Amino acid sequence: MSIKRKILLRISLAMAIATLLIIAIVAFHIRYSTIEAAKQKATLVSEITRDALTAHMVNGIMDKRDLFLSNIAHLKGVQQLRIIRGETVIKQFGKTRENEGAQDQIDLDVLKSGKSVEVMSENFMEARLRTTIPYIANANIGSPNCIQCHNAKEGEVLGAITMEFDLGEIKTTGIETILKIIFVSIVSLGVVILMLNRFLNPYLDLFSQLAEKIKAADNGDYSQRIETSLKDEAGDAAKWFNDFMQKLEDTFKRIEQSIGMFVSRNRNFRKLDPLEETRNVVEELSEIYKFKRTIENDAHKMDVYDRITTLFSKKFGIENFTIYEVDSEKNMRRALVQHGEHNCCSLATLDNSMLCRSNRIGKDVLSDDFDGVCPQATMCGEKPYICLPISVGGRVTLVINIVAESEEEKNRIKTILPRLHNYLGEATSVIESKKLMEMLRESSLRDAMTGLYNRRFLEEYLTKAMPQALRANKKVGILMIDMDHFKMVNDTYGHDIGDAILKKLSKTIVDNIREADLAVRYGGEEFLVLIHDVNGESDILTVAEKLRSKVMEMKVKAGNEMLQKTVSIGVAMFPDDTDSVWKCIKFADIALYKAKENGRNRVVRFTEDMWVDDGTGY
Ligand code: GH3
Ligand code: MG
Ligand code: MG
Repeated sequence: MSIKRKILLRISLAMAIATLLIIAIVAFHIRYSTIEAAKQKATLVSEITRDALTAHMVNGIMDKRDLFLSNIAHLKGVQQLRIIRGETVIKQFGKTRENEGAQDQIDLDVLKSGKSVEVMSENFMEARLRTTIPYIANANIGSPNCIQCHNAKEGEVLGAITMEFDLGEIKTTGIETILKIIFVSIVSLGVVILMLNRFLNPYLDLFSQLAEKIKAADNGDYSQRIETSLKDEAGDAAKWFNDFMQKLEDTFKRIEQSIGMFVSRNRNFRKLDPLEETRNVVEELSEIYKFKRTIENDAHKMDVYDRITTLFSKKFGIENFTIYEVDSEKNMRRALVQHGEHNCCSLATLDNSMLCRSNRIGKDVLSDDFDGVCPQATMCGEKPYICLPISVGGRVTLVINIVAESEEEKNRIKTILPRLHNYLGEATSVIESKKLMEMLRESSLRDAMTGLYNRRFLEEYLTKAMPQALRANKKVGILMIDMDHFKMVNDTYGHDIGDAILKKLSKTIVDNIREADLAVRYGGEEFLVLIHDVNGESDILTVAEKLRSKVMEMKVKAGNEMLQKTVSIGVAMFPDDTDSVWKCIKFADIALYKAKENGRNRVVRFTEDMWVDDGTGY
């Protein structure tokens, strides 16, 4: 039931109860005053009758009393009037009329008791009061007094008068009054309801508007305002509500604008409650911030890729994706992470990164953009795919190829793309700085001219690699290579030709050892080569011989001449010769010295007899 109805019902009920009470009080008073008036009238009539009868008696015209009594009996409202003679009077004067004695029990009771009796008889339409008043002998009533004429004692009942009054007319008046009260009450109720209605309507309207607008706000719509003509406290409350909503709306707009600068969101999310959305975005921002702090403290670029992999698979539930690192200078790319079974990109994109559409246009590429949108997406059949390029300074540095298992999964991933970009955006700058750091570190460990690792690197490398080799029971061959009569090249053809020969020699060495082996520029024109995982001496000597003969085939142009050079190589075996790696390098150096002594352009294996302890500890 509406509040309005409740209020009106309660007021109607209260008015009905009040009306009933008024009617009851009025009815009671009408009845009471009517009866009282009738009683007073009866007393008056009885006294007049008594005095008149006394006068009749004194004047000796008692026989004329009937005329008087009939006149009295015709008084307004008097229905019946009878004079009853008591026993004493009948004894003294006899019965002069037929009905002068007591007519009923009430008459008898009054004659006996000397007390008045009133009996009210009424039904719906009629109301009658019958009253019987005794006449009591009294010596003080005036002159003559009763005792003078009656043979009676003072206080004795001489007779009585019985009258009946018709109160019907007064009752009808009472009923009319009550009906008027009811009518007035109903009219008043109607007027009250009308006035209340007019008075309550704006308040109830305000109340229902308030309920409606708060509900809308709860659903995220803060644009609703209350409209009211009220100017009192309720009007103030409506104004405060509107001001509050305006403040909320403005605040959310500002928050939305500020947050929009930090994170991009899916447009569908805009339909959400701004409060809810703000909470989501703040949570997302805090997650992104934590992610960034974590990857910033990671040691290597690959650790960051591992974090992205975990983020994609665990947080966003993406199963199949490949992270490509793009080398835009070389126009190549490498797949650094392959998660899940599927990958879309053809192998051709590795050697020519511009074949990757996403890389080329620097925008997200989705398989549902256009049929066959990327011609290089040849490996994932009909599966939907999404490629995300990540750029730094306008250059694409990463491309992530996501392969979805189904259309539903692809659509789900599409909705979270802005969030993925938020994370990747933060990750790219960190990856770039890690790449730079690694490049710097790499360059400090390499020889700029030949591109080979330098001695600094060798020191770091040996502290890690040699204990590992020892633990794994692996042999490492150590070759110390020195160019023969190199000084003469510099002296004869100049340093540039000397440098060219050194570069060529470096390349020849790298080309003739395995990927796992290590070549280091040890000194000016001395090179150290570590051959890993060799079975025995013959293996290492074979490699050394091969290197020596490959150098002999090497030709470098010096003016009109073609220069050919040779190298001498000293060979030692770790840990066969010694389990101290630096001592082993020294052994290789000693063997090299022997090769030089023995005529150069040769390989000499270290033997213990070459070792003369010079007290240096090596
Ligand atoms: P040997 O057969 O005994 O080794 O004779 P060698 O002339 O090669 O003698 P040595 O090894 O002592 O000579 C080293 C020379 O290598 C001296 C130096 O001028 C030259 N050299 C060292 N580093 C460089 C370099 O980076 N560029 C050039 N062009 N020459 C270098
Ligand atoms: Mg030399
Ligand atoms: Mg030398």
